[in-house]
Amino acid sequence: MIRFKNERVISFSIKYFDVYWEVSPTTEDLQEYEFYVERSESEEGPWQQIAGPLIDRYHVRDNNVPLRSHNRILFYRIKALHVLSGTELYSKVIDRAGKISLLAQEMIRREDVLFREFVGVQCWLFPRRTFGQRCPQCWDDVLQKRRQDQCPTCWGTGFSGGYHYPIGLWGQVDDAEQTEQVTMEDHRQVTYHTFRTGPSPAIKPMDLVVDHLNRRFRVFTVGGTTRLGVGVRQEVKMVIIERGAIEDSIPLKIDASSVRLVPEREFSNPHTPEASQSASMSTLFGAYGYK
Ligand SMILES: [Zn+2]
Repeated sequence: MIRFKNERVISFSIKYFDVYWEVSPTTEDLQEYEFYVERSESEEGPWQQIAGPLIDRYHVRDNNVPLRSHNRILFYRIKALHVLSGTELYSKVIDRAGKISLLAQEMIRREDVLFREFVGVQCWLFPRRTFGQRCPQCWDDVLQKRRQDQCPTCWGTGFSGGYHYPIGLWGQVDDAEQTEQVTMEDHRQVTYHTFRTGPSPAIKPMDLVVDHLNRRFRVFTVGGTTRLGVGVRQEVKMVIIERGAIEDSIPLKIDASSVRLVPEREFSNPHTPEASQSASMSTLFGAYGYK
């Protein structure tokens, strides 16, 4: 099977993106491969095929890109199909930001340990759709707006489906003070939370974050650290969504009986053999997650 290398997205225009890729030197006949380029607004998909089949071509100009928003990130991946055997192979997922430097990789790795083992909790990100098919149930083409607040087809986003596939991530949620604002009509419990996590999955304003307590948050700012233009960490400000909003109905399909919500190592002391319940080495390693 061939191997992709040097995949990249480059453009100095807001009208198109140029996607390039290469294949490592091989003795295989490259004429037997078809390449397809796929694009998504979320790095975990769903993916849309934008070009292909391409034979012995290693460049695509995607001139149907919605580039008017600074917050929208487009991800690409290249699929190679070996026509004779039907075998498929995917490249790395790439975006405009490009490759991660060695120093940045190490920063991300260390912070990932921090989030997974010490300070983070399991969260899920629902990347919001910002373009595509309008909601067939509530979108009014004449008024150019939604007619329904509690629409279960677009979850209030105006785009069919509302969100891309949810992505699990470990991040630190800072708790905020509880508040209660009493108005003539209702009680509001608006709390602002800060959240930090690694650079992937990319979070953008208006995305939905669900934490391990099923608190649901709307992201309104995302900042963080970058190295040579590539994100190393994301600092997010988000506001809790009032109970009963349509976002509460969005199903999160996970296996609740086995999901790990907080770092297990925080609740055991595997650092000495005495602390282990049994002297067995397998138990000892088990505390570190080995099976
Ligand atoms: Zn709708």
